[in-house]
Amino acid sequence: MAEQTKKQMWHGIPREEVPWHPAVDANKCIGCTLCYVTCGRGVYDMKDNKAVVANPLNCMVGCATCGTVCPVQAISFPGRDLIWKLEREHKIFSIVRKEFAEKKGKLDAIKARAAAEEAVAKLTTSARMEVAGEFGEKRFLVKLEELVKGRPYDIANLRLEVPTVKGALEKTPSFMTFDITSTEQEDIDSFLPELRNLIRDNSLVLVSENKL
Ligand code: SF4
Ligand code: SF4
Repeated sequence: MAEQTKKQMWHGIPREEVPWHPAVDANKCIGCTLCYVTCGRGVYDMKDNKAVVANPLNCMVGCATCGTVCPVQAISFPGRDLIWKLEREHKIFSIVRKEFAEKKGKLDAIKARAAAEEAVAKLTTSARMEVAGEFGEKRFLVKLEELVKGRPYDIANLRLEVPTVKGALEKTPSFMTFDITSTEQEDIDSFLPELRNLIRDNSLVLVSENKL
């Protein structure tokens, strides 16, 4: 089935019934291309070094920018009275109010989403800890597990660096690094002190703590 083209409208009036678009006086035009480059709606084309109005209905009703910048005043528009007359005759303002509500709703939603994303970006949702000490008999790991059990936190990327097997048997200090993360993308700032206490209470040393 052929795709139907959506009819262009201007506040409830079919766009083809709004005769607002530029007209170029080819005798005056010097082919500088400024109107072509300035218009963001693809209204113009250049032919034989002259500007031509190729897509008049793409022109934004009420805009006259290209006419303002043309260095030789080769571009003209219908009088503004025409627009005021159309506004009155078609009683466009009830439609304009609806369009305003829709546009404002969309913009407010975009702003609210941006604010929410900014707030989430400011949260600390994970941190990397480096701990040194003697981790014998896995007791620290067990306590770590107990600390996060049933709570919205998890431990990831856990790595234990033991200098040598003999060293471990002889209880030589080792290093452990791990990431503490929120499983619900919440701020973990209030949880970090518990973790620091656990490290201290196990006679370990917190070497570094970096928010990720
Ligand atoms: S800005 Fe004026 S002179 Fe330059 S191309 Fe357009 S109509 Fe012609
Ligand atoms: S009036 Fe504005 S929208 Fe219309 S052709 Fe000129 S620059 Fe483009």
